[in-house]
Amino acid sequence: MAFLEISHLQKSFGTNQVVKDFNLSIEKGEFVSFLGPSGCGKTTVLRMVAGFEVPTSGTISIDGQDVVNLKPNQRNIGMVFQAYALFPNMTVAQNVAFGLRVSKKSNAEIDATVTEMLDLIRLGHLSDRYPYQLSGGQQQRVALARALATKPQVLLLDEPLSALDAKIRVSLREEIRAIQQKLGITTVFVTHDQEEALSISDRIVVMSEGRAEQIGTPFDIYNRPASRFVASFVGTLNLLEGKVDDAKKGVIDLDGNRITLAQPLSGHKKGEMLALALRPEAVTIDPHKARDTAIEGTINDVHFLGSVIRTRVSLGKNSVSLDMFNNPGSPPPARGEKVRISFAAKDLLVLGE
Ligand code: ATP
Repeated sequence: MAFLEISHLQKSFGTNQVVKDFNLSIEKGEFVSFLGPSGCGKTTVLRMVAGFEVPTSGTISIDGQDVVNLKPNQRNIGMVFQAYALFPNMTVAQNVAFGLRVSKKSNAEIDATVTEMLDLIRLGHLSDRYPYQLSGGQQQRVALARALATKPQVLLLDEPLSALDAKIRVSLREEIRAIQQKLGITTVFVTHDQEEALSISDRIVVMSEGRAEQIGTPFDIYNRPASRFVASFVGTLNLLEGKVDDAKKGVIDLDGNRITLAQPLSGHKKGEMLALALRPEAVTIDPHKARDTAIEGTINDVHFLGSVIRTRVSLGKNSVSLDMFNNPGSPPPARGEKVRISFAAKDLLVLGE
């Protein structure tokens, strides 16, 4: 049994079923993100693990113990919320000490742990400040220290970065990951930001409408999306439509071009329309790098973004976005220019529903 085991979890609010047969096993020390659009049930699953919501059915166990009937404070869990949720009338040190005081630790132990936690988040010099005297990023670091002070078995983070500026978000997510690895603490992190999830997780659970659509490493989720939803929610994607030409040989027709895919199209019939996905970084218009598939097209959009030039190439009914690296020695491509795009057939993914 895994360290945190969630089985057949369901949750309804009245007639609205918001979590549907959710299953997940998390190993000790793993960092797992729940990623999905607003309202897909991420927070509700997290709140059931924390004990703030009671499941309609299903089980949750931590280190072999069924916790569904335990109160939040009996679960040995640390939680950080989106809003900073610090006690405004307490100093940084008092906030961090809060859980330790509730569990009646000795003053010496409290002092030592507060010092240790403030060192961990590098805010020892601000221990006497009040929350209103801190930046948003500093407040979230204090919230993290407060959650970790009681040495929980599991750390739950509910969109802890979403109220912060873009730059602080990036530095704080790196800090959260570094602290998590240093402590080896099992962590569940809720976000609707795919870059955030890709950058810090050991595994990601992509959620849609109360279900886990796919569970995998960031590499797998990005490169081998299991469904059309995952493919389009995670990363930038070209969604194309092709027609099956020869299913046995894996040949499709893409705007009049015959393309042989890496695998046969078992279960498909000639003439059937297929949804296909192609990541922008898998495509090039540099003829010197031509890969196994090359198609004629016309540039119909060019956006100069600095280091890269996002270019859209029309192939007929379909069009493909790709990024070219800026080359100061040559001008960017022009709209209306005829080009050949090329990509490896293995990078053209056939999407399921
Ligand atoms: P977000 O990213 O916006 O926080 P989420 O994926 O975390 O979204 P949840 O907060 O889990 O989604 O909500 C899932 C669904 O459950 C939503 O439709 C929400 O309105 C509903 N819901 C959540 N809590 C309650 C509640 N206490 N009573 C009734 N409905 C609720």
